Amino acid sequence: MTNNTETNNNTVVTRFAPSPTGFMHIGNVRTAIFAYLFAKKHNGKFLLRIEDTDKEREVTGAEKHIIESLHWLHMQWDEGPDNGGAHGPYRQSERLDIYNLYAQKLIDTGYAYPDPYTEEQVQGFRTLAEEEKRPFLFRNHRPETFEVWDGKKPLRFKIPEIKSYAWHDMVFGDLTAGPEALDDFILIKSDGYPTYNFAHIVDDIEMQVTHVMRGQEYISSTPKFLAVYEALQIQPPRYASMPHIMAAGGNKKLGKRDGARDILSYKEEGYLPEALFNFLSLLGWNPGTDQEIFTKDELINIFELERVQKSGAQVNEDKLDWMNKEHLNKQTREERKKYYETWIPDVYKKSADYETKIEKILPLLEERINVGRELLQFIESGELDYFFQKPIYENPAILIWKNGTKESTIEHLQQLTTLCEKLEDWSSTDSIKNALFPYAEEKGRGDVLWPLRVCLSGKEKSPDPFMLAYILGKDETMARIINAQHILAK
Ligand code: GLU
Repeated sequence: MTNNTETNNNTVVTRFAPSPTGFMHIGNVRTAIFAYLFAKKHNGKFLLRIEDTDKEREVTGAEKHIIESLHWLHMQWDEGPDNGGAHGPYRQSERLDIYNLYAQKLIDTGYAYPDPYTEEQVQGFRTLAEEEKRPFLFRNHRPETFEVWDGKKPLRFKIPEIKSYAWHDMVFGDLTAGPEALDDFILIKSDGYPTYNFAHIVDDIEMQVTHVMRGQEYISSTPKFLAVYEALQIQPPRYASMPHIMAAGGNKKLGKRDGARDILSYKEEGYLPEALFNFLSLLGWNPGTDQEIFTKDELINIFELERVQKSGAQVNEDKLDWMNKEHLNKQTREERKKYYETWIPDVYKKSADYETKIEKILPLLEERINVGRELLQFIESGELDYFFQKPIYENPAILIWKNGTKESTIEHLQQLTTLCEKLEDWSSTDSIKNALFPYAEEKGRGDVLWPLRVCLSGKEKSPDPFMLAYILGKDETMARIINAQHILAK
C-alpha cells in the first residue's frame, strides 16, 4: 500500500468518479469541469473512475452516456475505463480484490469486523432507536469479540476513536465535525461489493489522487473517511467541496426531478460544447473580473479553487443562450454557416438557388438566432418558407394596409415594380431601400411598405421588405410584386 502524498512527486491528480445510475446533468458535469480545470492548471492528471458498486441503482447505458458527455465537452481524461492507465482497472466492480486487500489489512489491525447480526436484527435496533427518539448508532451494538470474516456477512469498520475531526476544505474553509458523524459503517456488503464510503478511499489512495472535488453533500461524511485514513495510517487527500446548484430564481437545490436535464439534451438543442463548458465553469466560480466569455485554455490558466464560492450557484439558461451566441461569433463564417445549416431542412437545400440565398440569409440568422433550437422554431413557424417558396395569399386582403384600397395598393405595387426595374444595384439591403423608400415616404410608409412586405413574404409578420427583396433577388422580387397586383385585380 502506498502513501499517496509521498509517492507521486507532488503531481496533482484529480478524478471524476460518477456512479452510472442515470444521465449526466449540470451538477455532476460542473464537478467534473472543476476537477479537470484544476488538474490541467497544475499540469496534473485528471482521471475518470466509474463507481459501479451499487448494482441495484445501476442504469444500463449510463457509463456510455458519461463518456459521450465528457467527450462532447472535449474533456479528455488521462486515465480511465476506456483508455486504461497505470492504476487500472477504472471500474470499481473490477477492483474487488483490491478492496478485499485493504479490508484484510483493517481486519488484521483490528479496525474491521464482520457484522454478527441478521438484517432484521439491525432493523430492530434502528426501530428501537427511532421509538426512543435517539440516533441509531451501530457502534452501540458492536460485539465484544469478533468472528472470522467469511465474506458472506457485511464487514464493518471499527471507528478507531470517537472524537472530533478538523480538516481544511479548499472551498468551505476550516471544518470540524464530531462523534455524531462517526459510526461503524459497512465497508464490504454481504454481496461482496464495497460501499462507496470504503471503495472511494481505497481508489483515491491507489490512484494517488491528491485533490478530491465532489458535491458538498459529502462534507457531513468526511469524519468517517478521515477515520479510515487514520486506521490505515495514510495521509488523506485535500478536499474541495462543490457548492450546490440551484434552480433559477429559487433557493432549491437543482435535482433530477426539478429540471436538472440530461447534459446531452443541450447538444441536441444546438448548444456549442465550448459555450456549455464556459457556462458551467462560471457556476459557482468567477475569475474576479467582468470577463465572461472564455475558451477552455483561458479557463485552465485562470482557474483557482480558492475563488469557488460556498453559496449555491444559480442556473440562468438565458445567459447560456447569450454565451452560445458569443461563442458562435468567435467561429469563422464558414463554421457558423455549417452550424446553422445543420438545422435547415433538406427541401430548402435542394432548391436551385439555395447557395446564393443562404449566403444572404446568414446575416439574418446571425442577428436573430442564439442557438440552433431557436432556428428550428423559426423554421417550424414558417419563417424561412418565403425565401424558398412562392407565397400563397390565402386572403388577398392582407396585402392592403389599414385604410388603403385595392386600387391604391395596386397603384403602389405598380410604382414599386417600375422603381425595381430601374434599379441596377441590387447588391445590398441599403441600395434597395434607397431606391424604394422615398416613394414610401411620399405616399405613406404603411400604405406602400406593408403591401410590399406582405407580397414578398405572404405573411403579416416577416423581416423588413428591403431585406426580403435583397435575399430574393431582383427577378423574384419583381415577379412576386407583379403576381400580387394580378391577384388583387381579380
Ligand atoms: N460516485 C459518487 C457520486 O456519483 C462520487 C463521489 C466522489 O466523487 O467521491 O456522487
